[in-house]
Formats: sequence, C-alpha cells, structure tokens
Amino acid sequence: MPPIFNGPTSEKYDYIVIGGGSGGSGTARRAASYGKKVAIIEATAAPGGTCVNVGCVPKKIMWNAADLQDRFRHHASGYKFSDVGNPTFDWKAFKPQRDAYIHRLNKIYETNWAKEGIEYHHGYGKLTSNNTVEVTRPDGQGTYTLTGEHIVIAVGGTPTIPSDEDIPGASLGIDSDGFFDLAEQPKRVAVIGAGYIAVELAGVFNALGTETHLIIRGDTVLRTFDPTLQETLTPWMEHTGVKIHKGSHVTRVDGAKGQTLTVNTDKGEKIEVDTVLWAIGRHPLTKGLGLESAGVETDVKGDITVDKYQNTNVKNIYAIGDVQGKWLLTPVAIAAGRRLANRLFGPESLKDDHLDYDNISTVVFSHPPIGTVGLTEPQARKKYGDDAIKIYRSSFKSLYFSQVAEEHKEPTVYKLIVVGIHLIGQGSDEAMQGFGVAVKMGATKKDLDDTVAIHPTSAEELVTLR
Ligand code: FAD
Ligand code: NDP
Repeated sequence: MPPIFNGPTSEKYDYIVIGGGSGGSGTARRAASYGKKVAIIEATAAPGGTCVNVGCVPKKIMWNAADLQDRFRHHASGYKFSDVGNPTFDWKAFKPQRDAYIHRLNKIYETNWAKEGIEYHHGYGKLTSNNTVEVTRPDGQGTYTLTGEHIVIAVGGTPTIPSDEDIPGASLGIDSDGFFDLAEQPKRVAVIGAGYIAVELAGVFNALGTETHLIIRGDTVLRTFDPTLQETLTPWMEHTGVKIHKGSHVTRVDGAKGQTLTVNTDKGEKIEVDTVLWAIGRHPLTKGLGLESAGVETDVKGDITVDKYQNTNVKNIYAIGDVQGKWLLTPVAIAAGRRLANRLFGPESLKDDHLDYDNISTVVFSHPPIGTVGLTEPQARKKYGDDAIKIYRSSFKSLYFSQVAEEHKEPTVYKLIVVGIHLIGQGSDEAMQGFGVAVKMGATKKDLDDTVAIHPTSAEELVTLR
C-alpha cells in the first residue's frame, strides 16, 4: 500500500507533479536530484502509469510469449527440433505470473520515490488555481490542498470507445486495459482499429491461437506509416491467419457480456466472437482536472497546448507526455519530463533544455516487428520534391529463415530515404535504436556506406544498400 499523507508536509513545494506515470516519475526524480521539494500526486495505488501497468511492459511480455509460440510452432522443426510442433500456451497460469512482475515494478517506483525524498500523495489531483492542487484521497478519506511553485500535468490518456448511441452495443467490448484483465484466452476475438495497439494485440492473439478478426476502415493497417511497411505487414498478417475485414465500419454489436458477441459491419458481415476489443485511439485524461480553474488551454482534440519548452499558456504550469498529444510514447514522456526539470532546476548550462520532437524512432511490436524513424516516402517527396529523393530498398529473407519451411519465412524489407528509415522484419525493433541515433545525428548515405557491416546480421543490409 502506498503511504497515505494526512496533508501537506510543506507549506510550499518546489514542484508538484500530477500523475505518477512515465513522464511524471521521470520529471519528479530529476527535480529531486537537484534537491527540490517534490510531490507526486498519483490517483492509483500502482505507480508507473500506462506503460508499466497496461501498456509497453505487459504488452512486450505478451509479444515475447507470442514470438516464442511462432518459433516453437513454425520454426523449430526446420531446425530439426522434434516434439515442439504444437505447444499450448497456458494464459490462465501466465497472467498471474505477469501481474506479479508488474506489482514488483510498482513497488520499485514507490521505493525509488521514497529513497529520493519524493512525497507520494495517493489521490486524485485537481488544479484549483495556478499554484494549488486539491488532492482527493481514495475511498472518501477527504481532501487537502498542496501549494507549489511549479506544477506539471502528466496525467496521460485513456482508450477511446464509441458510445452506445453511436454504435449500439459498443460497450460490450473491452479496450487495451481490458486486454490485460483477461483471465482466460478468448477462442475468438474481433479487434477494431488499425494502429499500433490493434496491430500488436491482434498479432499476439493470433500467434497464441485465438481466431482473430481485425476490422479496419482502410485497405491496410498502420496507414500513417510508410506505405512499404503497410503493404508488407498487411498481407503477412493475413498469411499468418489474421482475418482482416477491410474497408469495414462496425455498425452494431449484439449479445451479452460473457456470451457470444456478434459484430455487424456496414458491409453486412456478422462476425461471431467471444471478445470485442476497441483499439481506435486514446484521449487525454483531462476531465475533472480543473484546467478551467487555472485557465489552462487545450486544443480541439482536448490535448493540453504546450510550446517547445512544455509550457502551457499559464505561467508555471507545464504539461508532458500523452496529455499534450504529441508522440504518445514512454521515452518521449520521460525525456520531455527530465529536460523540463533540468531547465527549471538544473545548472545554468541546461537553462534552455527541451526535447527535440524531430526524428523520434518508434517500433511497432507486430509479427514481424517494425522500426521506423523520420519522414515516410510520401512525406519526404512532399517536403523535398520527387527529384531530390532517392529511395534505397532491400527485400530479403533473413538467414534465420533459411532453415524454416517456405510458408513460415517472414519477410524483411528495409527502406532508406536518408531522411527516414523504415524497417520490417525479425530484429527490426532492436536494430532501430542505433539507426535512430544515426538519423538524429544527420547521417548521410555515405556515412552508412562507410560503416563496415556486422556479419551475418539482417541489419548489415542497411550499410550495404545500393
Ligand atoms: P501515463 O503513463 O499514462 O501516466 C499517467 C498517470 O497519471 C497514471 O498513473 C494515472 O493513474 C495518473 N493520473 C491520471 N489522472 C490523474 C489525476 N487527476 N490525479 C492523479 N493522478 C492521475 N509506448 C512505448 O514507448 N512503447 C510501447 O511499446 C508502448 N506500448 C503501449 C501499449 C499499450 C497497450 C498502450 C496503451 C500504450 C503503449 N505505449 C507504448 C504508450 C505509453 O504507455 C505512453 O505513451 C506513456 O505511458 C505515457 O506516459 P505519461 O506519463 O504521459 O502517462
Ligand atoms: P493509433 O492512433 O495508433 O491508431 C488508432 C487507429 O484506429 C487510427 O490510426 C485509425 O486508423 C483507427 N481508427 C480511428 N478511429 C476509428 C474509428 N472510429 N473506427 C475504426 N477505426 C478507427 O491509436 P492506438 O490506440 O493504437 O494507440 C495509441 C497510441 O499509443 C499510439 O499512437 C502510440 O503512440 C502509443 N502506442 C505505442 C506503442 C509502441 O510504441 N509500440 C504500442 C501501443 C501504443 P485508420 O484511419 O486506418 O482507420
């Protein structure tokens, strides 16, 4: 259990952080390292936020399980391992083990905060002015107010689900939070959406043996990514068994919780499943946060408007992470938070510190994974003109798959535009980090050519492209 404070221990805090997730924890710890008096207000008893509890961490663990299943079922026999063709995954036994690991991480967050002198106020934070935050303690234990010199909003976001008025029966579905609550593996699932979460969770379900339907509005998944990635991943997902319903909009969900659900689409399809999972985006958790009391502005989507220094329109109030709507990624929230604390409390040399939001690398944990940084081909053509853009592309089967049956050889495609790198294939998640550094440093094609390859790897293709 987190420590329960009976009220503020200080008349005025240097830094009040609302939200103890990736960004909030990152910024609080950096501020505390400068000897500042810091309070984190966290609504839940599970510090760490989305990434730790219902995001990156449990997701990657499930991806690892799915990846292992692919290797057992489709690859091991090619390497002449016997009796590994049809292993069963025990979801029911695995979930509590995964949860126990997450609880350990929650504890580590709490311990680190305590060690570094950060006060953990377990409660719901609401701005009441430009320098006060009201904390509502859980279970009706009352409220108290903290006063701070600087206040940072790091409350993150939450999954979006259509209303039952818009799509009757929509609330029969779950979202990505609900995915991590599933005690048992559904036999049949319909995932609705075409972004990161839809692709990743549909991939996990499918690899682990759930009959998986993916309902998308367009013709490909990941429509905001480079077309090569969309065009490689979409057919490969279908090849591996995901039933993709293209150009489809869900019109109604029939059934009752715990029973068979029927997903109706505008194409007249009726898809019978046990679980419906909405993965159509996220929105910021700003309702009830008291933004109006402090006069903090949001944009049309409800994201808090910030400048490049994470300043809101109100002096001494800042916003970091998902709540400011740009690049909803853990390392982005942490990096912006740390830089903000450097700027506010660090040495003179860091008085201009801020995160550069250009050329951020990102990975989609699809099967196979995707790594990407910089401009897509259409973006690069639009920005620099067709004549200025040279595309290098390599499509191959990695050495690992040389021993694997033809139908299970995963594609690998690398595309280099210099102002962008787009990878799909085994190991692309790991390879991306280093190439992300190169692009960030402004590497040219010649720099890549001048780099001696590491052999035999897939990533070596990127320094030998012609
Ligand atoms: P959060 O981590 O969401 O933290 C916000 C915290 O604020 C929460 O703990 C919440 O309880 C608390 N809070 C909210 N309102 C209040 C209030 N009023 N008072 C007090 N506390 C409050 N990113 C990656 O980089 N890699 C991945 O692989 C990845 N996978 C993901 C998978 C899924 C399924 C999801 C949903 C997200 C994933 N993300 C991933 C995104 C990543 O989780 C977020 O970008 C990141 O957690 C944002 O950090 P944050 O600090 O802005 O918000
Ligand atoms: P995304 O914004 O990535 O994707 C949502 C997609 O759903 C849209 O691109 C859209 O695709 C589709 N969509 C939107 N509205 C509707 C609708 N009404 N009906 C049907 N489809 C719809 O959101 P996610 O929820 O997948 O993820 C949120 C964010 O979390 C991501 O943007 C990412 O930043 C982060 N994240 C990062 C991960 C990582 O780093 N690996 C993993 C998971 C999440 P279309 O227009 O093609 O229909």
